[in-house]
Amino acid sequence: MNAVEQRYLKAIRSRVCHSCSDLMPDRICGLRERICPIEGHLRDIVQIAHCISGDRAGPYVRELRSTVCAACDHSQTSGVCPRNKRQACPMDKYFMLVFEAIADVHEELRAETEAAILH
Ligand code: SF4
Ligand code: SF4
Repeated sequence: MNAVEQRYLKAIRSRVCHSCSDLMPDRICGLRERICPIEGHLRDIVQIAHCISGDRAGPYVRELRSTVCAACDHSQTSGVCPRNKRQACPMDKYFMLVFEAIADVHEELRAETEAAILH
């Protein structure tokens, strides 16, 4: 994961982890032997956030399902995800927070690039 991707992930985690059902009482992520779906699919999630605009959830959800879920180990051949059914996937449950965090970092990066050009 490169530095920019780490920055996206850090911003997403600061918004999402405290609400996630996988966070343990000691504030450590409980997915010890598995990768958080957000981290595992970060590159695709960031790309979707950059390609889709607007406040409506439908286009984001459709793209997440067809791109991220289709490539996820949790998705079964039937296309059903048990984590999604239990609302236990943070990528799915908190996707608007995820996209807000990505938009914020994107804006920060844009402002930093502009400032660097001006100096
Ligand atoms: S599963 Fe992901 S979102 Fe949930 S606590 Fe762990 S790192 Fe955070
Ligand atoms: S909803 Fe299920 S299939 Fe989709 S990313 Fe989350 S865990 Fe993977």
